Amino acid sequence: MAILITGTPGVGKTTIARLLAERTGKKYIDFAEVVKNERLYAAYDPETNSYVVNLDRARSYMEQLLSCEEILDTHLVEALPPDKVSVAIVLRLDPLVLRERLNKRGYPSRKIRENIESEILDAVLISAIENLGEEKVFEVDTTGKTIAEIIEIITQILNKNGKLYKPGRVDWLEKYYFLIGKEGGII
Ligand code: ADP
Ligand code: MG
Repeated sequence: MAILITGTPGVGKTTIARLLAERTGKKYIDFAEVVKNERLYAAYDPETNSYVVNLDRARSYMEQLLSCEEILDTHLVEALPPDKVSVAIVLRLDPLVLRERLNKRGYPSRKIRENIESEILDAVLISAIENLGEEKVFEVDTTGKTIAEIIEIITQILNKNGKLYKPGRVDWLEKYYFLIGKEGGII
Protein backbone atom coordinates (compact mmCIF):
# COMPACT_ATOMS: atom_id res chain seq x y z
CA MET A 1 0.00 0.00 0.00
CA ALA A 2 1.56 3.23 -1.17
CA ILE A 3 1.77 6.63 0.48
CA LEU A 4 0.63 9.19 -2.06
CA ILE A 5 2.06 12.70 -2.17
CA THR A 6 -0.21 14.70 -4.41
CA GLY A 7 -1.33 18.23 -5.28
CA THR A 8 -1.39 20.72 -8.14
CA PRO A 9 1.82 20.90 -10.21
CA GLY A 10 4.30 23.23 -8.48
CA VAL A 11 3.16 22.70 -4.87
CA GLY A 12 6.30 20.74 -3.96
CA LYS A 13 5.36 17.06 -4.43
CA THR A 14 8.66 15.91 -5.92
CA THR A 15 10.79 17.80 -3.40
CA ILE A 16 8.83 16.44 -0.45
CA ALA A 17 8.28 12.90 -1.76
CA ARG A 18 11.96 12.35 -2.57
CA LEU A 19 13.08 13.60 0.83
CA LEU A 20 10.43 11.56 2.62
CA ALA A 21 11.58 8.44 0.77
CA GLU A 22 15.19 9.16 1.68
CA ARG A 23 14.32 9.70 5.35
CA THR A 24 12.12 6.62 5.67
CA GLY A 25 14.11 4.29 3.41
CA LYS A 26 11.00 3.67 1.32
CA LYS A 27 11.05 3.52 -2.45
CA TYR A 28 10.23 6.72 -4.39
CA ILE A 29 8.07 6.39 -7.51
CA ASP A 30 7.54 9.22 -9.96
CA PHE A 31 4.29 8.28 -11.68
CA ALA A 32 5.03 10.46 -14.74
CA GLU A 33 8.25 8.49 -15.29
CA VAL A 34 6.38 5.19 -15.09
CA VAL A 35 3.84 6.47 -17.62
CA LYS A 36 6.63 7.45 -20.00
CA ASN A 37 8.75 4.33 -19.56
CA GLU A 38 5.85 1.88 -19.74
CA ARG A 39 4.04 3.85 -22.45
CA LEU A 40 0.88 4.12 -20.39
CA TYR A 41 -0.32 7.08 -22.40
CA ALA A 42 -3.05 7.36 -24.98
CA ALA A 43 -1.67 10.41 -26.75
CA TYR A 44 0.85 13.23 -26.58
CA ASP A 45 -0.36 16.81 -26.49
CA PRO A 46 2.33 19.00 -28.11
CA GLU A 47 0.49 22.16 -27.08
CA THR A 48 0.93 21.48 -23.37
CA ASN A 49 4.00 19.28 -23.88
CA SER A 50 2.41 16.50 -21.86
CA TYR A 51 1.13 12.96 -22.15
CA VAL A 52 -2.54 12.07 -21.92
CA VAL A 53 -2.56 9.08 -19.61
CA ASN A 54 -4.52 5.95 -20.47
CA LEU A 55 -6.27 5.68 -17.10
CA ASP A 56 -7.31 2.02 -17.38
CA ARG A 57 -3.87 0.81 -18.39
CA ALA A 58 -2.18 3.00 -15.81
CA ARG A 59 -4.43 1.68 -13.06
CA SER A 60 -3.81 -1.95 -13.87
CA TYR A 61 -0.07 -1.41 -14.25
CA MET A 62 0.13 0.36 -10.88
CA GLU A 63 -1.99 -2.39 -9.32
CA GLN A 64 0.87 -4.83 -10.10
CA LEU A 65 3.69 -2.42 -9.32
CA LEU A 66 2.67 -1.21 -5.85
CA SER A 67 3.44 -3.85 -3.29
CA CYS A 68 4.86 -2.24 -0.17
CA GLU A 69 4.95 1.25 1.26
CA GLU A 70 6.22 3.11 -1.77
CA ILE A 71 6.14 6.91 -1.79
CA LEU A 72 4.21 7.82 -4.89
CA ASP A 73 4.44 11.24 -6.55
CA THR A 74 1.61 12.32 -8.87
CA HIS A 75 -1.25 14.79 -9.27
CA LEU A 76 -3.24 12.19 -11.21
CA VAL A 77 -5.09 10.39 -8.42
CA GLU A 78 -7.70 8.98 -10.80
CA ALA A 79 -5.02 6.90 -12.53
CA LEU A 80 -4.23 4.90 -9.36
CA PRO A 81 -5.80 1.71 -8.01
CA PRO A 82 -7.56 2.93 -4.82
CA ASP A 83 -6.94 -0.29 -2.88
CA LYS A 84 -3.17 0.16 -3.27
CA VAL A 85 -3.05 3.62 -1.68
CA SER A 86 -3.16 3.68 2.12
CA VAL A 87 -2.90 7.43 2.65
CA ALA A 88 -2.95 10.50 0.42
CA ILE A 89 -1.29 13.74 1.45
CA VAL A 90 -2.55 16.63 -0.66
CA LEU A 91 -0.05 19.50 -0.57
CA ARG A 92 -1.72 22.89 -0.90
CA LEU A 93 -0.15 26.24 -1.76
CA ASP A 94 -1.46 29.78 -1.85
CA PRO A 95 -2.39 30.35 -5.52
CA LEU A 96 -0.42 33.60 -5.72
CA VAL A 97 2.75 31.83 -4.52
CA LEU A 98 2.00 28.96 -6.89
CA ARG A 99 1.70 31.42 -9.78
CA GLU A 100 5.17 32.77 -8.99
CA ARG A 101 6.65 29.27 -8.88
CA LEU A 102 5.10 28.23 -12.19
CA ASN A 103 6.24 31.51 -13.75
CA LYS A 104 9.78 30.76 -12.63
CA ARG A 105 9.48 27.30 -14.14
CA GLY A 106 8.68 28.94 -17.48
CA TYR A 107 5.25 27.34 -17.85
CA PRO A 108 3.12 28.79 -20.66
CA SER A 109 0.47 31.21 -19.39
CA ARG A 110 -2.40 28.88 -20.32
CA LYS A 111 -0.92 26.11 -18.20
CA ILE A 112 -0.30 28.48 -15.29
CA ARG A 113 -3.90 29.62 -15.43
CA GLU A 114 -5.21 26.04 -15.53
CA ASN A 115 -3.12 25.05 -12.54
CA ILE A 116 -4.06 28.13 -10.51
CA GLU A 117 -7.73 27.44 -11.24
CA SER A 118 -7.38 23.85 -10.22
CA GLU A 119 -5.65 24.83 -6.93
CA ILE A 120 -8.34 27.41 -6.11
CA LEU A 121 -11.13 24.94 -6.86
CA ASP A 122 -9.57 22.09 -4.78
CA ALA A 123 -9.46 19.87 -7.88
CA VAL A 124 -6.81 17.41 -6.65
CA LEU A 125 -8.26 17.27 -3.14
CA ILE A 126 -11.70 16.47 -4.54
CA SER A 127 -10.29 13.86 -6.90
CA ALA A 128 -8.45 12.24 -3.98
CA ILE A 129 -11.60 12.13 -1.85
CA GLU A 130 -13.70 10.80 -4.74
CA ASN A 131 -11.23 8.15 -5.81
CA LEU A 132 -9.76 7.03 -2.49
CA GLY A 133 -12.40 7.92 0.09
CA GLU A 134 -12.14 10.74 2.62
CA GLU A 135 -10.73 8.46 5.36
CA LYS A 136 -7.39 8.21 3.55
CA VAL A 137 -7.07 11.87 2.60
CA PHE A 138 -5.20 14.67 4.41
CA GLU A 139 -4.31 18.18 3.25
CA VAL A 140 -1.36 20.29 4.29
CA ASP A 141 -1.12 24.03 3.58
CA THR A 142 2.57 24.39 2.74
CA THR A 143 2.45 28.16 2.25
CA GLY A 144 5.36 29.80 4.10
CA LYS A 145 6.52 26.47 5.55
CA THR A 146 10.02 25.11 5.20
CA ILE A 147 10.56 21.68 3.71
CA ALA A 148 11.58 20.40 7.17
CA GLU A 149 8.31 21.68 8.67
CA ILE A 150 6.27 19.96 5.95
CA ILE A 151 8.13 16.67 6.45
CA GLU A 152 7.43 16.95 10.19
CA ILE A 153 3.69 17.39 9.58
CA ILE A 154 3.61 14.44 7.17
CA THR A 155 5.42 12.28 9.72
CA GLN A 156 2.77 13.26 12.25
CA ILE A 157 0.00 12.26 9.82
CA LEU A 158 1.71 8.93 9.06
CA ASN A 159 1.93 8.32 12.81
CA LYS A 160 -1.87 8.51 12.92
CA ASN A 161 -1.79 11.98 14.41
CA GLY A 162 -3.34 13.82 11.51
CA LYS A 163 -6.63 15.12 12.92
CA LEU A 164 -5.63 18.72 12.18
CA TYR A 165 -5.06 17.88 8.54
CA LYS A 166 -8.38 16.37 7.50
CA PRO A 167 -9.84 18.00 4.36
CA GLY A 168 -11.77 21.25 4.65
CA ARG A 169 -9.37 23.69 6.28
CA VAL A 170 -7.85 25.20 3.16
CA ASP A 171 -10.16 27.64 1.38
CA TRP A 172 -8.56 29.74 -1.36
CA LEU A 173 -11.97 30.76 -2.72
CA GLU A 174 -12.77 32.41 0.60
CA LYS A 175 -9.37 34.15 0.61
CA TYR A 176 -9.35 35.33 -3.00
CA TYR A 177 -12.97 35.51 -4.20
CA PHE A 178 -12.57 39.25 -4.77
CA LEU A 179 -9.78 38.66 -7.30
CA ILE A 180 -11.70 36.21 -9.47
CA GLY A 181 -12.80 37.46 -12.87
CA LYS A 182 -11.20 40.89 -12.31
CA GLU A 183 -8.90 42.56 -14.83
CA GLY A 184 -5.38 41.41 -13.90
CA GLY A 185 -7.02 39.22 -11.26
CA ILE A 186 -6.14 35.77 -10.16
CA ILE A 187 -8.02 33.71 -12.79
P1 ADP B 1 5.84 19.50 -7.91
O1 ADP B 1 6.58 18.19 -7.95
O2 ADP B 1 4.61 19.47 -7.09
O3 ADP B 1 5.56 20.08 -9.27
P2 ADP B 1 8.38 20.56 -6.97
O4 ADP B 1 8.78 19.67 -5.85
O5 ADP B 1 9.04 20.35 -8.28
O6 ADP B 1 6.79 20.56 -7.17
O7 ADP B 1 8.61 22.05 -6.46
C1 ADP B 1 8.38 23.19 -7.28
C2 ADP B 1 9.37 24.28 -6.90
O8 ADP B 1 9.06 24.75 -5.59
C3 ADP B 1 10.82 23.81 -6.84
O9 ADP B 1 11.62 24.84 -7.35
C4 ADP B 1 11.07 23.60 -5.36
O10 ADP B 1 12.41 23.81 -5.03
C5 ADP B 1 10.19 24.66 -4.73
N1 ADP B 1 9.68 24.26 -3.39
C6 ADP B 1 9.13 23.09 -3.05
N2 ADP B 1 8.76 23.08 -1.75
C7 ADP B 1 9.07 24.31 -1.27
C8 ADP B 1 8.93 24.95 0.02
N3 ADP B 1 8.38 24.34 1.05
N4 ADP B 1 9.37 26.21 0.14
C9 ADP B 1 9.92 26.86 -0.91
N5 ADP B 1 10.08 26.33 -2.14
C10 ADP B 1 9.67 25.07 -2.33
MG1 MG C 1 7.00 17.01 -9.64
